[in-house]
Amino acid sequence: MSNCIFCKIIDGDIPSQKVYEDDDVFAFKDLNAQAPLHVLIIPKKHISSINALTADDAETVGKLYLAAKKIATDTGYADDGYRVVMNCGEAAGQTVFHIHLHLLAGRSLSWPPG
Ligand code: 5GP
Ligand code: ZN
Repeated sequence: MSNCIFCKIIDGDIPSQKVYEDDDVFAFKDLNAQAPLHVLIIPKKHISSINALTADDAETVGKLYLAAKKIATDTGYADDGYRVVMNCGEAAGQTVFHIHLHLLAGRSLSWPPG
């Protein structure tokens, strides 16, 4: 998607602080971090939201979670705990319409979220 900022980040047209990459997944630090660790984990395939997922995307979405586990482990947060969240739609706070898992760690995270 030519007008998608996360596709531009994957392509390197917009700079980012990359923390992980494989054939299907790209992960980078959130520009406006809400925790000591705040990483966005995205598929290289452009998918606008959870509402746009198809059965063919199941493996891709699973890989986002495996990347979250790897990043949390590699950064030393796996044992203390971390949160992964994907907002869907404007009412949930989605502002970038290329699906992304937020990985948050390094502070006590309250529940329920606001
Ligand atoms: P959403 O609100 O859609 O769930 O999350 C979008 C996230 O993307 C926000 O946390 C925001 O800070 C982050 N973000 C938006 N634009 C950029 C950018 O250009 N670079 C990076 N690293 N993060 C961004
Ligand atoms: Zn995109």
